Amino acid sequence: MRVIQGDITDMNTDAIVNAANSSLMGGGGVDGAIHRRAGPMLAEYCRPLAPCPTGQARITPGFGLAARWIIHTVGPIWRGGEHDEAALLVQCYTNCLHLCAPHDIHSIAFPAISTGAYRFPKKRAAEIAVETCRSFLSRFGLEVDLHFVCFDRAQYDIYASLLS
Ligand code: ADP
Repeated sequence: MRVIQGDITDMNTDAIVNAANSSLMGGGGVDGAIHRRAGPMLAEYCRPLAPCPTGQARITPGFGLAARWIIHTVGPIWRGGEHDEAALLVQCYTNCLHLCAPHDIHSIAFPAISTGAYRFPKKRAAEIAVETCRSFLSRFGLEVDLHFVCFDRAQYDIYASLLS
């Protein structure tokens, strides 16, 4: 597991993860960036896969992206912490990783799910991301190159300290 700073749409991993909303039709933030770069066939492909409930994941081709696959997951909206937000965020990472073996995915890039428009506290979200992925990889013996892609420096520093 490693952290890098950059734009997830530039990643040429087997799969990139999208912090989507349940309609899967695109939106702001990383979702908008992925749909713009993948092209309009992505929304067409997503239509019959929607709605995607919070915590679940759907897989599509990468279309115009370098990545072969896009795994769309819907993070929880932060509503104070008493509405299962942490458990739902764990489910996002777990459900994405469960798709790796059946799709022959050996490298994957995650954004910081829920930490933008959905306002999940950044440090807590990073702790959940690192802890959930670490235990999944060891529990299932999954061999994947896992990248956390942070858009900004502050987020990068949080992950870097958790991974060191
Ligand atoms: P959510 O609705 O799940 O909060 P956002 O897209 O609003 O999703 O934000 C999730 C995180 O993705 C934020 O930390 C934001 O800084 C980051 N982000 C936005 N655009 C990109 C991008 N192109 N590549 C990687 N991360 C991005």
